[in-house]
Amino acid sequence: MTRVPAARDVQRLWAWRAGGYRCACTVESGLVHISRDHVVAVRRRAPDVTRISDLLAAGPSTSFEFMPPRSDVGEQRLRTALSELRPLDPSFVSVTYGAGGSTRSRTHGIVVDLLDDFTPMAHLTTWGHERDELADIIRSYHDRGVRNILALRGDPPRNEPDLPIGDLANAIDLVRLVREITGDDMAVGVAAQPQVHPSSPDRATDRRHLAAKLAEADFGITQFFFRTEDYLRMMEELADLGCTTPVLPGIMPITNVGQIERFAAMSGHPVPADLAARLHEVADDPDEVRRLGVEEATRLCRDLLDGGAPGIHYYTLNTSTATREIHANLGSLATRD
Ligand code: FAD
Repeated sequence: MTRVPAARDVQRLWAWRAGGYRCACTVESGLVHISRDHVVAVRRRAPDVTRISDLLAAGPSTSFEFMPPRSDVGEQRLRTALSELRPLDPSFVSVTYGAGGSTRSRTHGIVVDLLDDFTPMAHLTTWGHERDELADIIRSYHDRGVRNILALRGDPPRNEPDLPIGDLANAIDLVRLVREITGDDMAVGVAAQPQVHPSSPDRATDRRHLAAKLAEADFGITQFFFRTEDYLRMMEELADLGCTTPVLPGIMPITNVGQIERFAAMSGHPVPADLAARLHEVADDPDEVRRLGVEEATRLCRDLLDGGAPGIHYYTLNTSTATREIHANLGSLATRD
């Protein structure tokens, strides 16, 4: 029997779980007792899959977001990214969901497959869905051992702009549906917009809706952004409204000037002018763009973690190199051990 300080061993537990092991432990007078005799190998992680809300309590998290591939080449790219990011021992990985489109069932298949090697989170959007359809999807994830859902409203797909919104008007209604079906079995995350959702009438209204949604969820994840102060200001505004739910900053490493400007325009939040100007100065040199992108993202992540962010959620776009470089630059700041 080993006697060790509790906080330290909570972290060790995670390390063991990540290696495909679980162990029995008891807590007594603030100390964790771990018996190595009780350490058992588990072939599949599904029955033990972690709720992200529990995980965030154990120290800074690192998580990666992927998209369902649309082709064989895309499938290979995703597999490569997953195998290259696996050694970073992510706290969880997530898979996006497309409203009304063909990626719906692919998201489900990928998330369930990921149970073998990761703690996965399924994105789910309400747009275009009847309530019963959403309930079936939630039950199906729950039955297969998935324990984390990112509850989103979504938007009408670009190729189906007239797709009606569906039975649930907002993400908070989906949070409630997950709770109704699974109780506290599943952790539920929601989206947050440091620079305010583009369709919100004003900042105060946006923050009120966000605080109400976060109050019923377990955690939030932000849209990507480029300035630490945008995240810190949002967290202050939420705290002023009495909301203390953890919110993970979402980071999009810049590797291509045209691509990031397209994504930024789509999200309704342009790249800040000073950063855009620096990127345009080197736009013809892909290596220099990457170097600047990694440098900027490293600085942003460091400031966010120093400022109290509970971890970093990377938008990987199904590639791994820039994410690995940023994670390596962060060193011990980003690790749970
Ligand atoms: P909501 O929380 O419903 O908010 C949408 C708007 O309605 C906001 O303006 C809000 O202020 C307002 N609002 C909220 N509650 C109320 C209320 N009770 N009454 C009136 N107004 C209200 N999209 C996808 O299609 N697939 C994905 O996989 C996906 N993943 C994402 C992951 C992250 C981390 C983030 C940040 C976004 C993601 N999105 C995804 C994008 C997201 O679906 C869009 O931003 C969408 O426009 C809003 O979704 P939401 O969940 O924030 O909606």
